[in-house]
Amino acid sequence: MVPTKTKYKNNFIHQVIKKDFKKNRKMHVKTRFPPDPNGYLHIGHAKSICLNFDIAKIYLGICNLRFDDTNPNKEHSKYMDSIKNDIAWLGFKWNQDIKYTSMYFNIIYYYALELIKKKLAYVDQLTKEEIKQYRGTLTQPGKNSPYRNQTVQENMFLFKQMQLGKIPEGKACLRAKIDMKSSFMVMRDPVLYRIKFKEHHHTKKLWCIYPTYDFSHCISDAIEGITHSLCTLEFQDNKQLYNWILNHISIHHRPTQYEYSRLNIEYSILSKRKLQLLIQQNIVQRWDDPRLLTISGLRRKGYTAQSIRNFCNNIGVTKQNNLIEISALEACIRDELNKTAHRTMAILDPIEVIIYNIPNNFEEKINILNHPNNIKMGTRDITFNNKIYIERSDFQETPNKKYKRLTLGGSVKLKYAYNITARYIKKDKNNNIIKIFCTCNLKNKNNKRKNGIIHWITKTQCVKSRFMIYNNLFNTKNPENKKNLLPYINKNSIIKKYGFVHHSVLNNKQIQTYQFERIGYFYIDSILSKKNILTFNQTVSLKQNKKPSNT
Ligand code: ATP
Ligand code: MG
Repeated sequence: MVPTKTKYKNNFIHQVIKKDFKKNRKMHVKTRFPPDPNGYLHIGHAKSICLNFDIAKIYLGICNLRFDDTNPNKEHSKYMDSIKNDIAWLGFKWNQDIKYTSMYFNIIYYYALELIKKKLAYVDQLTKEEIKQYRGTLTQPGKNSPYRNQTVQENMFLFKQMQLGKIPEGKACLRAKIDMKSSFMVMRDPVLYRIKFKEHHHTKKLWCIYPTYDFSHCISDAIEGITHSLCTLEFQDNKQLYNWILNHISIHHRPTQYEYSRLNIEYSILSKRKLQLLIQQNIVQRWDDPRLLTISGLRRKGYTAQSIRNFCNNIGVTKQNNLIEISALEACIRDELNKTAHRTMAILDPIEVIIYNIPNNFEEKINILNHPNNIKMGTRDITFNNKIYIERSDFQETPNKKYKRLTLGGSVKLKYAYNITARYIKKDKNNNIIKIFCTCNLKNKNNKRKNGIIHWITKTQCVKSRFMIYNNLFNTKNPENKKNLLPYINKNSIIKKYGFVHHSVLNNKQIQTYQFERIGYFYIDSILSKKNILTFNQTVSLKQNKKPSNT
């Protein structure tokens, strides 16, 4: 469960619930999270999950998990498995058994018959294209379908034919009879049932007609006794229809729909359809690619459930659409890992250093804290001798006042060890430096440093590793607005580096997250590490980048 230490930010939904409690002190708050099982969950869903489950928790109510499985063409059981797994990983527990809209297909069908009998629904035989034309536009009223005035008997017969599979797909649908001139497009005789000859994962071949989202959602909410049905702003107009349906069928419970703004994050996309497209086009391989803001992608990158919950709580719930900076999400994981991550050294782009005035048989063990401010996290031993690796970017041939690291003739302090002085270098044919030859005064460990401090690893304690540095997947601030995403893909969204990590990371298999000192927070990628080389995904940099990382 969500730890109770979380301080929940007040939002307008809380205000609504508090008012409702004033009217009915015995109210039992019931919410639901209703995913379409047609993709993996993303950070936008996390906002909805935190909202619904936290409300149930705060007001001692319950929250259902209901799969909105009304479209057998798109649903897949692998998506249901991943959704269940992600919700549990986020730390939430749904009420009793999982619900499925398909569990209510019989009852929903019964309510469709009720509407037909009340002359409030009819079987339309216009084509999909014609229905679209007849619907009109925002500025033009719609036209009545010629099938609108069929008798109840005719409609009952045709609906039965639909159900029996006697009418081909696309040749008929059930529509509500509301108002083709309504200023709300959704009220212009919305479709309630359509024909789909596709086996359903739950009901198998029992049905070849399926209720639409609008028809099934309000009925499912009412059947489950949901009190507060929370959805995103694009369903604002659908609220009219939500209430119309419930007002015209013989169901007693009345849930109320409330809308809040969708989460959008800079330089990323959250729409499942578009995420799917990125996979189909091989721009990313899988739903859990660490560059995607899917829950599984964030997990693979090293985000924790707590950091995602904190983020969702921090951004709050409002009715204003806005674009959240990616740095707001990064700050949540950085703050957490700063307190919890074990420190170690890694060299992402190594260059060898030979300290030639130290004898070959010299070795010094140095014991250091795994976390500078937390003794409870224990210590580790590192060894210092005459062959070490340092970061290529920590050496520069020519001195420069602003450059506080190692230069030819200059000195720098090795973290936890000694000052070294670079005496000469060796280059290859292409003029690349391949070795730096240094000296070191072993009496001088605690000497005041003249320059900066750099990290290092002794050659004998190096484990070959691959480091994946992730940048934004898109180079435009709001890619959701673009029709064609492809021109906006950042070609440098992954930078791979090959280097070393200190071998102490192999000692404790339980630990997957590290702070590589002076570099950033990294997480072992268990999928890639299995295949060949130990691989780390960068979770987040040590400090916030000033500029968006697109290049
Ligand atoms: P997508 O566009 O990603 O396919 P969706 O709304 O079709 O989203 P659903 O599976 O139907 O996805 O979503 C389940 C719940 O999560 C819904 O209540 C929906 O409103 C909510 N939700 C989806 N995306 C977001 C988002 N970006 N921000 C907040 N809530 C979201
Ligand atoms: Mg949806």
